[in-house]
Amino acid sequence: MTHKTLPEGLHPDTLAIRAAADRSQYGENSEALYLTSGYVQPTAEAAARRFAGDEEGFTYGRYGNPTVSSFEQRLASMEGTQAAMSTASGMSAILMMCMGLLQSGDHVVCSQSMFGSTIKLIGSDLAKFGVQSSFVPQTDVDAWRAAVRPNTKLLFAETPTNPLTEVCDIAALADIAHKAGALLAVDNCFATPALQRPVELGADIIMHSGTKFLDGQGRVMAGALCASQQMVTEKFLPVLKSGGMTLAPFNAWVVLKGLETLGIRMRAQSAQALALGEWLEGHPAVDRVFYPGLVSHPQHRLAMAQQGGLGGAVLSFAVKASNPDAARQRAFHVLDAMRVISLATNLGDTKTMAAHPASTSHGRMTEAQRQAAGIGQGLIRVAVGLEHIEDIKTDLLRGLDSLK
Ligand SMILES: *Cc1c(COP(=O)(O)O)cnc(C)c1O
Repeated sequence: MTHKTLPEGLHPDTLAIRAAADRSQYGENSEALYLTSGYVQPTAEAAARRFAGDEEGFTYGRYGNPTVSSFEQRLASMEGTQAAMSTASGMSAILMMCMGLLQSGDHVVCSQSMFGSTIKLIGSDLAKFGVQSSFVPQTDVDAWRAAVRPNTKLLFAETPTNPLTEVCDIAALADIAHKAGALLAVDNCFATPALQRPVELGADIIMHSGTKFLDGQGRVMAGALCASQQMVTEKFLPVLKSGGMTLAPFNAWVVLKGLETLGIRMRAQSAQALALGEWLEGHPAVDRVFYPGLVSHPQHRLAMAQQGGLGGAVLSFAVKASNPDAARQRAFHVLDAMRVISLATNLGDTKTMAAHPASTSHGRMTEAQRQAAGIGQGLIRVAVGLEHIEDIKTDLLRGLDSLK
């Protein structure tokens, strides 16, 4: 192997480009893509040791792959955890976490503003297997504390949230979890390790949808859990082996290469989002803008402290309207008038995307759940990309100006 061990103390931007599994004997500079489902074993004895877990070495594609390992090592180094386990999607990472850490009778506390599919998975699907859950207001630390029961095993937070960008206090939640003998998991999809490293604030598990900013150009699905080596080996690997939510090598390679530009993208896209948010706040047809980088955001100071002074690349705004029906019509008008921005519910792309959460990403929620989460019919979410900021503004003006 032509690999030299990396020195200690490298900056996250350097780790994003350099941390990975060993180079092959060919000394390739760009990470290799190993498209193989199986591995030839050197000897029968070695195969036995590898299957028993007594020796390092790949055995089967569902259990591991060198390209997948490179992605896992790089992401773990960026999050500051000992290890990571990748999955086929962000949702399957949450499924793996719950299957690995919970059993029937255990209790989970989540925010009621979590990603819609997360609420469905934990609140409904896992309830079928006897997992109990409570959903509390995202920013109310006392409500999180009050929801903890003797059987609480996990607190699961997402910050900032989708689509209202509500920010919760990671250190405070870690304290509540640990005093209760529970673990804190954080969905770090919106901030990414480029802005926020929850482990430094006491979180035990970092969950990712690699589909978003880690890929960065909207190409593949991926997910991951970052945690201690012991948790990854003892809790998550057995679920991967039997559950099979394995990340495909090609997708791992795409996301691995995406990580190399994560820092520069997050800083540039955050700057664009801040400029757009400030500008939207001044538009007469806009009722309110939700963006952690704005002084008007209720958790602005916490967000700036927790996210390295950056607001992230996602903002939402509500158009002015007299009632919910009119609000929905006006939001649809703005979205349908766009000619550059993609009408799409995804996020984390270089392409700016806008969507109507109440009828799409949050459409599966009941009206009561949506109201509890504060997602009105006039709300538009914008995942800000890297096009020229003036072209993004002009595209929103096409619809906004005719609302006056
Ligand atoms: C997209 C997303 C997920 C789910 O990830 P997938 O890769 O789509 O399965 C989870 N949490 C948040 C915050 C997301 O935006």
